[in-house]
Amino acid sequence: MRSQRGVVKQGAFQAFPGLVESIVANSGIVAACMLAALFFSLLSWGFLLGTVRAEREAGIRDSMQQALTMARAYSEQAARAINSHDLVLRQLRYGWRLSGYSLKLDSTDAATLYRDAAFSNLAIFDRDGKLVTAMKPERLRASIAGSAFFRANAEAPADRLVISRSANGSSQGNGLQFSRPLLDRDGRFDGVALLQVDADDLTVNFFLHRFTPGGVLGLSAVGGPLLVAAAEPRGPTPVKLPALSGNNGDFLAGNEGAMLAAAGWFADGRPRYLGWHRAGPYPMVAFIGLDQERAMAPFAAERKQAIAQASAATVVLFGLGAVLAGFLLRLTWRKRESQRTGETYRMATEGSSDGFFILATLYNGAGSVDDFEVIDCNQHGAAIVHQRRETLIGRRFSGLYRDDTFSRVMEVLRIAVETGSFDGELEFHPEGSDRSRWMHFKAVRSDQKLAITLRDISESKAHVAALEHRSNHDALTGLPNRHWLQWYLPQAIVRARDSRQTLALLFIDLDGFKAANDTMGHAAGDELLRHAAHRLKEAVRPHDNVIRIGGDEFVVILENNLRIEDTAIVAKRVIQAFKPKFKLIGGTAVLGTSIGISSFPSDGDDAASLLQNADVAMYSVKTSGKGSFRFFDPEFYEALRRELEYEQELRMAIESDEFVIHYQPRMDLASNRTTSMEALVRWQHPARGLLEPKDFIPLAEKTGMIVRLGELVLVKVCEQLAQWVAKEEGVVPVSVNISSRQFNETDIARIFSSAMARHNIPSHLLEIELTESSMMGGGSHVLESLSKIRDLGIKLLVDDFGTGYSSLAQLQLLDFDILKVDKAFTSRIEQTEQGKILFTAIITMAHALGMRVVAEGVETSSQLAILRTLACDEVQGYFISFPQAAASAQSLLLSPAV
Ligand code: C2E
Ligand code: MG
Ligand code: MG
Repeated sequence: MRSQRGVVKQGAFQAFPGLVESIVANSGIVAACMLAALFFSLLSWGFLLGTVRAEREAGIRDSMQQALTMARAYSEQAARAINSHDLVLRQLRYGWRLSGYSLKLDSTDAATLYRDAAFSNLAIFDRDGKLVTAMKPERLRASIAGSAFFRANAEAPADRLVISRSANGSSQGNGLQFSRPLLDRDGRFDGVALLQVDADDLTVNFFLHRFTPGGVLGLSAVGGPLLVAAAEPRGPTPVKLPALSGNNGDFLAGNEGAMLAAAGWFADGRPRYLGWHRAGPYPMVAFIGLDQERAMAPFAAERKQAIAQASAATVVLFGLGAVLAGFLLRLTWRKRESQRTGETYRMATEGSSDGFFILATLYNGAGSVDDFEVIDCNQHGAAIVHQRRETLIGRRFSGLYRDDTFSRVMEVLRIAVETGSFDGELEFHPEGSDRSRWMHFKAVRSDQKLAITLRDISESKAHVAALEHRSNHDALTGLPNRHWLQWYLPQAIVRARDSRQTLALLFIDLDGFKAANDTMGHAAGDELLRHAAHRLKEAVRPHDNVIRIGGDEFVVILENNLRIEDTAIVAKRVIQAFKPKFKLIGGTAVLGTSIGISSFPSDGDDAASLLQNADVAMYSVKTSGKGSFRFFDPEFYEALRRELEYEQELRMAIESDEFVIHYQPRMDLASNRTTSMEALVRWQHPARGLLEPKDFIPLAEKTGMIVRLGELVLVKVCEQLAQWVAKEEGVVPVSVNISSRQFNETDIARIFSSAMARHNIPSHLLEIELTESSMMGGGSHVLESLSKIRDLGIKLLVDDFGTGYSSLAQLQLLDFDILKVDKAFTSRIEQTEQGKILFTAIITMAHALGMRVVAEGVETSSQLAILRTLACDEVQGYFISFPQAAASAQSLLLSPAV
């Protein structure tokens, strides 16, 4: 498990090679990002705290202002209340005097009068301080002579309102009492009118509804002491203003003011914003205290929220800083990596023969590729574009190439940008170079960059071109060759088809070249071909293509829609051009031309059939006298095709042995006995029945198949002989016809001896028939072959004598045993005397040379009779016996007719 994890970890590092080093190397980036985060968070903190502080100060100011405003309102109300109480006092004084000092304040009338009054008690004291009358006398002492306010009234120089605290006030403790002196008629002091008000009635009862919890209010004498005070919610008054203890500072000084009163000023230990205002003309100050904590609660909440926001912002900023650092690290890492890859690649490619470039893609305003900038390249790459690496880096592509090269290079670079890669060949024309170069150009896109590899392939291109030329041209004549023709002709046909034009092919075979080559030697043959090629080129128009397709065969392609007559003119010109003798280094030579012509589209619509048909036409010229031209003739072609088909059939027939041998006896005229049998081959054709030699021997001769066929016949004859020999006594020999090609091209003696050996046939049972023409022209070879045959003990017969050109003397030299006179002579012996004389002469001469004479084609009894008189040795012919299939016994073949 551990090892697996290890592998994974290693894998992860391998996925980002150099990442750790990159972080270490770029710790500055991390630090900068974090500092930026710190800076911005401090900024936001500063801003937020500043705002909060400002708002708090504004809150403080507002609170103090509010306290002051409230104190003003309160002081106004208080002044108004005092004023009305004073009025009540003065009315009381007046009523007292009017009643003749007999007013009863505790009477029902008085109670009715002051029922809803805002004071709690009214009283009158006499000049000695004794209570005279009161609304609520029970709440008053009987004498106030010792009290301060009494003294103040008694000793006052003038009639004035005296305000003092009442000892027994309201539920809230002390109340206030207002008093004025009573005066007698002489204006002397005569007592005191007193009005008491509960503390509540001067405080909470008319003001507190506007208060927030924790608020306090009250009235104080100017400079102290505290007169009345109340708090919200109601309860024991927390107020213990320091002013009351004599240390009031600014408080209660002047007409009005506001300040933060410290916690120590209040019994509940809660600081408050305190506003105060002088209560009208009275030596009294009304004050309002707002609980600091409550007043500032919205700001505290705001501050809390601001701190939360600032904290969140800090977290976000640091997060962003980390992300930014990560992003920059990744960016620098990738940049470094790509730099390193580039450097590594360049180092790796520096030694190679490839040019290497890294290009940056430059886009225009419309977002399409506009140009490229070289970011890096190796020395070799710079050299390829005829620049120095140092000057190349940073340059724009548009500045490197001339217009056409630029547009071509841009085209492939755009392809590479669009598809991701390009791989192909391109012709460059570097600035500062006078020749263009072929480059193998490979571009691969990576992000916005292209990595390009250039290889100069100019040399190999030239080499390939040379090779191509070599493979497309004949080294001897310099003409295009068959390979080239096969490439060119189909295109020429397409062009002709597209432009609805005709095209003609001249298939030219040089007559007599083979003979000249054989007799004069190959060097002269080559020289002759060069001359012939030259004459051909001269004979046609300059733009007509002359191709040597092999040996002494040439093709001329005539394009440009020539009419038949014009094609014929060209052919005639070619024939004419070959009329003069060729002067060679070693002598002179004569050549003719056989020309076959095929035309597109009439004689074929593809290269192969046009060539074949021109060849067929040429062949028809060859087989009909040479030295001229012929247009392709479908009928001739058909005949040729049939012949070829037949040839194929024959070939198959030999392979599968469709042949039988018929035997025709030869009769000795002296004994009337069969001396020999001639083996005559027949083709048992599956469709056409039994075919005679004239239907296939000439073709077999022409094609050389006669060699195989001859061997087949020999085998069949040997097998038959072996059968006969096995069955009966006195088996006569079988003569086998040997064609000239068999005789000249194979070792007949060896073939016969091995056949005889294989079938155990004695040599005296085989004879060989050769026509005169077989032996024509063959000097030592003929003699040698014949002597070898004789050495085997095989008899030699001259077949069809009289049809060839040999003389009897020649035949005698060749040491033949038997002369078979052609049936043409036999038929003539009974027709003319001349015929008989000629035949007699042949017999006489043959006998003189030691040869027996066989008359072929004896068809009548009279012929037989004449031949007997002419001392002919043997006869053969339908009159004796038709050639017949082999019977199981050879003796059965003997003709009963004789
Ligand atoms: P050939 O060797 O001169 O054979 C004699 C031909 O004359 C035979 O024709 C035979 O049937 C024919 N013949 C015989 N008696 C008479 C007659 O009284 N009147 C007439 N009009 N014709 C007669 P066939 O069998 O058609 O053979 C023709 C030729 O084919 C042969 O002439 C021979 O040259 C050649 N041939 C036949 N078999 C072979 C063979 O196995 N090998 C070779 N190379 N040639 C062969
Ligand atoms: Mg024969
Ligand atoms: Mg014959």
